[in-house]
Amino acid sequence: MAAYVPPVDDVAFLLGRVFGFDQAMADLPGYEEVNTDLAVSVLEEGGKFCAGVLEPLNRTGDEEGCTLADGRVTTPKGVAEAYRAFVEAGWCSLSGDPEYGGQGLPRVLQILLDEMLSSANLSFGLFPGLTRGAVEALGHHASAELKATYLPKMISGEWTGAMALTEASAGTDLGLLTARAVPNGDGSFAITGTKIFISSGDQDFGGNVVHLVLARLPDAPKGVKGISLFLAPKFLVEADGTLGARNGMSVGALEHKMGIHAQPTCVMNYDGATGWLVGEPGRGLNAMFTMMNAERLFVGIQGLGIAEAANQKAVAYARERLQGHGADGTAGPVPIISHPDVRKMLLKGRAFAEAARALAVWTALQMDIAVHHPDADTRREADALVALMTPVVKAAFTDFGFETAVASQQVFGGHGYIREWGMEQYVRDARIAQIYEGTNGVQAMDLVGRKLGLDGGKAPARFFALVKADLDAALPIVGADLVTPADDALARLEGATARLSTQGGAIEAGAAATDYLRLFALVSFGWMWVRMAAAAADMGEAAPPAAARKTALARFFMARMMPETLGLDAALGHGASSLMALPADAF
Ligand SMILES: Cc1cc2nc3c(=O)[nH]c(=O)nc-3n(C[C@H](O)[C@H](O)[C@H](O)COP(=O)(O)OP(=O)(O)OC[C@H]3O[C@@H](n4cnc5c(N)ncnc54)[C@H](O)[C@@H]3O)c2cc1C
Repeated sequence: MAAYVPPVDDVAFLLGRVFGFDQAMADLPGYEEVNTDLAVSVLEEGGKFCAGVLEPLNRTGDEEGCTLADGRVTTPKGVAEAYRAFVEAGWCSLSGDPEYGGQGLPRVLQILLDEMLSSANLSFGLFPGLTRGAVEALGHHASAELKATYLPKMISGEWTGAMALTEASAGTDLGLLTARAVPNGDGSFAITGTKIFISSGDQDFGGNVVHLVLARLPDAPKGVKGISLFLAPKFLVEADGTLGARNGMSVGALEHKMGIHAQPTCVMNYDGATGWLVGEPGRGLNAMFTMMNAERLFVGIQGLGIAEAANQKAVAYARERLQGHGADGTAGPVPIISHPDVRKMLLKGRAFAEAARALAVWTALQMDIAVHHPDADTRREADALVALMTPVVKAAFTDFGFETAVASQQVFGGHGYIREWGMEQYVRDARIAQIYEGTNGVQAMDLVGRKLGLDGGKAPARFFALVKADLDAALPIVGADLVTPADDALARLEGATARLSTQGGAIEAGAAATDYLRLFALVSFGWMWVRMAAAAADMGEAAPPAAARKTALARFFMARMMPETLGLDAALGHGASSLMALPADAF
């Protein structure tokens, strides 16, 4: 099996040629020292860790899985050592706040490292990914005392984080949750309840496990307004910062699941566990959304990571595997990569992964601008663009990521279905990313129901104008055969957006949501392909191989993937009536 190759060349092309990373960083106070060379050398090292240490544990971790005995979770052989080495090398703190010991590097680097982590070992990547989300929520909403106690050790990775929202009867609808928190009278609370499906709920790496738990205060109103957020650690922390007594919480069971077997997904029992309020009472969901938004982008990147890895393996296999005669008359057996149908499967994965990486970099740049730009309006606009793009990245990257995993498995024929080549693991591992952190259907409703209305609808309008301006600028460089399909698809998206805002109504929005999000994603990918092709064309003869391939891939995307927008637009045009006509008992 070919080894995973971190896409560092592509990263260098994106940062240096497509996004003008050096100038973008120079415009952000505090980041003047950051540039493409630095980013590439950091990611080269990160890539070595992912490919050299984490990928070799991917298969063994899947086969061994996690175990629970006498209340103790054990992760598969080698995972704890790898985690400690990851922390030791400073990878956990890459983008962490320097005030609490983080390295303060830009989001762009973090998101690219996250992709490599997800390619190499999705289960492993969740440990630092969840900790970072928890850090984000605490950084925004916790008291100074909680921050001082917890953030330095969580940012370094010495302590891990978990988010505990879901209960057996409260999944998408968190307003139904029943966990309770009763004041202890000393500023802390006693939390009681059972949560299910808690990723990284415990580990055997040492240190603490810091749970962010949603629960209700006594007399809290029903629904989401009655939910508060609490920090509850596995070990109580002494005044000097050392670990004290075990808190009243335990792992009741490990979930048996389809994939990510090296990740302990826990049923958590909180039996009067001591916790501290994070943010205001009754505003827990709001505080938790800080974590969930960070996690949603992270989960989207998981889809990209799996797609990249699975596609790489499929390309390597298709070059070696000999079957049949060539479609051009070459006597067989020929490598299957010469068959048009196999090429189509490989190209779809490539065209998705490279466009998604570009869009991820663009989104992360907006995140950096939203925090660091000196101009308040620029920060606010960038923040709105990130909010708009978050459900698109989460849902589209994981949907296309799963499709790419399946297509890459298909390239292996029967050898993809048996365990030997590892392709069925990609399919199993990729699947969860479409479900957790809010299902992809829920992401689509977030896009249609909330994000299209951001800034009174100005945020999507600004986004469309941005895309249009880039397409117009690229026209003389890459020509109409690349730009016109993207332009036409953008017009479809704008038309669908206008129809949604005038037709309105929850049923129309719900009926349109997933098709609309996919249309939005395809337009965004097409935009990225035009930008990448234009950057490659700009380089002329000097284009390195990673850039020279871009034009061919851009053409494939416009010819073979963008036409899906026609079908989506047609389906959207029919509205909700055909979905709602059949009574529930007639299905
Ligand atoms: C492996 C794994 C790890 C997880 N990790 C965590 C974790 O770390 N922390 C945590 O708190 N949770 C975690 N979860 C829970 C996960 O986030 C939920 O499973 C997910 O949000 C969906 O909730 P549910 O399973 O209850 O499905 P439901 O909410 O019952 O949804 C079922 C279906 O109905 C649809 N649906 C529901 N409501 C609506 C609506 N209003 N409109 C339209 N469609 C709707 C959904 O899209 C879905 O297709 C994890 C789950 C798994 C399987």
